[in-house]
Amino acid sequence: MRPGILSPKPSTASNPCDECGARCCKKFLIAPTASDIARLSSKLGTAAPEFLEAFPAEKCACVHAPSFWVDGKEIFIGLKRKKGACLFLRGNACSVHNFKPLVCRTFPFCLNKYEVEKSSFCGKDVLMEKDGESLIERYERELKLMRRDAVEWNWRTGGERGLGQLATFMQAKARERAGISRIISKLKF
Ligand code: SF4
Ligand code: SF4
Repeated sequence: MRPGILSPKPSTASNPCDECGARCCKKFLIAPTASDIARLSSKLGTAAPEFLEAFPAEKCACVHAPSFWVDGKEIFIGLKRKKGACLFLRGNACSVHNFKPLVCRTFPFCLNKYEVEKSSFCGKDVLMEKDGESLIERYERELKLMRRDAVEWNWRTGGERGLGQLATFMQAKARERAGISRIISKLKF
């Protein structure tokens, strides 16, 4: 375990989200990683631009994900919003719970350098999933890869291509990495 990282444990108590009214799904822009986009698109059988939106960078001060240049503007890729909430919110429940973005699975925790930070917005102080530390580290790894993707995208396109092409680019990156991981796991055995 790395120094300073806490190991959030799965709660044995009832789920605090049940009584919260899904405040986080209403409040925050949800920035998916490349693998989140590929998974959502595949599970929903929907082209990624159907659920993605380009949000102007100046309105997204606290997003951990990198920004991209799209159609000549600096943006963050986020899940579309509908009636003041994430488009996947139904009542107070997540309609894509089984394959939702990593940031939704780790919230209210995220890594800031080597420290796990908890958002003060949320009263929940435990992760509801098992093996929370590796989940947070995976999210951090994916964000690092996404920062590299952003540099490559901006350099290759000059920031002049659209969101649909960016979504295609990111899904290709996710597939490429999944392929490499499969090859590595075969080599291990
Ligand atoms: S994660 Fe926190 S803010 Fe979000 S629904 Fe659960 S308790 Fe509410
Ligand atoms: S994907 Fe699900 S958990 Fe994440 S913000 Fe949307 S409704 Fe909430």
